[in-house]
Amino acid sequence: MKRKGICSVCGCTDNEGCGEGCTWFDLNHSLCSVCWQLSAAQRLRKRDAALADLERRLDRIHTEKVLLELRLSVLTPEPGKRKPQRTTPAQHPRFPNRKEARK
Ligand SMILES: [Zn+2]
Ligand SMILES: [Zn+2]
Repeated sequence: MKRKGICSVCGCTDNEGCGEGCTWFDLNHSLCSVCWQLSAAQRLRKRDAALADLERRLDRIHTEKVLLELRLSVLTPEPGKRKPQRTTPAQHPRFPNRKEARK
């Protein structure tokens, strides 16, 4: 639990600060500047690790996406080159239903 006036990390207070001297880092007076500096360095390392991890994952997702797009581009012709759709005899206005025509 965070309590006002006590550092949540090292436990220093208004009366008993860290040896090298510290000040409150946040408005709640629950994190002193010394601990913030320490945790900031940790956060930076964590952030770097998280970013590197994210980069790896994004790269994989990106690669899969590119591969998928390549596969799709092979399957579907480009819009300009698309052949007109054939109409089947049944749909063609000039040809009535074949079965009926044979009778
Ligand atoms: Zn502290
Ligand atoms: Zn402190």
